[in-house]
Amino acid sequence: MASYSVENLAELPDYESRMHKPILFLSSSLTVETTSKIFVTLGVIMAISAVFVVMFFLIKKVPLVILEATKGEEVEEPEADIYNTTKKKNKFIKISTRILRIIFLSLKSADIVYYLAYAIFAILGSAVHPFFFAFHLTEILRRYPTLKNVIKAIVEPRRQLGLTFLFYLILTYIFSLFAFEFFADDYQGDCSSTWSCFLTTFDFTFKANGAIGGYLDGIADPIPEDADHGYKFGRFFFDFFNNIILVVIMISIVAGIIIDTFGLLREMEEEKNKDIQEKCFICGLSKEVFDRQAEIGYDFNKHIKNDHYMWNYIFFIAFLRDKDETEYTGIESYIHERLQNADYTSWFPFHKALALKNHDEDDEDKQKRVVNSFENEIDQIRKEMNGLNTMFTGLSKKLSTF
Ligand SMILES: [Zn+2]
Repeated sequence: MASYSVENLAELPDYESRMHKPILFLSSSLTVETTSKIFVTLGVIMAISAVFVVMFFLIKKVPLVILEATKGEEVEEPEADIYNTTKKKNKFIKISTRILRIIFLSLKSADIVYYLAYAIFAILGSAVHPFFFAFHLTEILRRYPTLKNVIKAIVEPRRQLGLTFLFYLILTYIFSLFAFEFFADDYQGDCSSTWSCFLTTFDFTFKANGAIGGYLDGIADPIPEDADHGYKFGRFFFDFFNNIILVVIMISIVAGIIIDTFGLLREMEEEKNKDIQEKCFICGLSKEVFDRQAEIGYDFNKHIKNDHYMWNYIFFIAFLRDKDETEYTGIESYIHERLQNADYTSWFPFHKALALKNHDEDDEDKQKRVVNSFENEIDQIRKEMNGLNTMFTGLSKKLSTF
C-alpha cells in the first residue's frame, strides 16, 4: 500500500536513508518530515485503538481468570499468630502470589497475549520505527479461520516435522561423510573437514539447481580440451541419490504431513460448522428430522428460535439465581439442585421436542416392536429346550433299562 522510499531517488539508498528517511507513495509533494508526521498520527490512532481492544479483552477475560486463580486457594486458617508482622507478611505473600497467578493465567490466553503485543507494536511503531507496524498485518490470521488452519497445519504436526528434519540432518551427514572420503576434491576446498563438508552439503542441497551435484558441477574447473572425458560413476551415484533422497522424497514427506493435517483441520472445521448450523443446540436433533415434519407447518428455524431457543435456557438459569430459593416451584428447585451439583445439561430435553411427538411415538413403537420380536424368539427357544429335555429324559430311561 504505502511505498516506503527514500529522499533522493537518483541515488541508490544507503542504510541510513532506507532506515530513517521515508517518503510516502514516492510522492514529490511530501517531505521526510510530513511522512514522519503521517506515520506518527496514524500510529497514535492505532495504539489508542489497540489499547481499547486490549482493555475490552481484559474486561471480558480477567473476571474469569481471577475466578480460576482463586479457585485452588485454601480457606484462610484461623490459627492465631503471635507476631502481627508475620501475619502481615503472610498476607503480602498471599496477595502477591495471587497477582502473579492472575498475570500468569492471563498470559496463557492467546487472545490477551496477541492484543498486548498488538498494543506494544503499535507504540513501538509510532515511537521507534514504522516498520513495527508490519506486525499488525497478522490480524488477517485472526479474521479468517481458514488462514488460521494454514498455521495450525504446520504447528500441530510439529513433532512429526521436527523428527523428519532430524532424519534429514542425519541423511545429510551420511552424504557428507561420503563426500569427505571420496569427493573432497570436487568441493574445491569446502570439504577440508567433515564439519565443513556437512555445512556445504546442507547449504547447497536446496539452494543449487540439482542439489549438491548441481553446485559441484557449477564450481568445477573447466575441463581442458585434451583431457580424457571419463565418466565419473561415483559422482553419478552420489549426485543422483542426494537429489532423489534429500530433495524429492524428503520434501514430499514434509508436504504430505502438512497437507494431511490441513485436510484434517478443514474437515473438522466443516463438521463443526455443520453441527452449529444444522443441529439444535438444546435437543441435538438434526435439521432433517424437523424437515420431515414440514407438513404440520413446523420447521427447524422455528424450532431453534422459539421452542429450543438456547438463550432462554441461559435466561432461565440467571432467573433462578435471582429468585429467592424459598419461592421456587417444583421444577425450579429440581433444576436448581442439578445446577448446584455442577450438572448443567442433564435436564435438557435431549433428543426430545414437544413439537415432534409423532417422532417420539414412532420411536416408541419401534422399540415395542423390537421387544415383542425378542420375546417371541425367546418363547420359541424355550419350547425347543423343553422338547429336547423330554427327549433326553426318554433316552436316559431307555438306557437305564439296559
Ligand atoms: Zn431442539
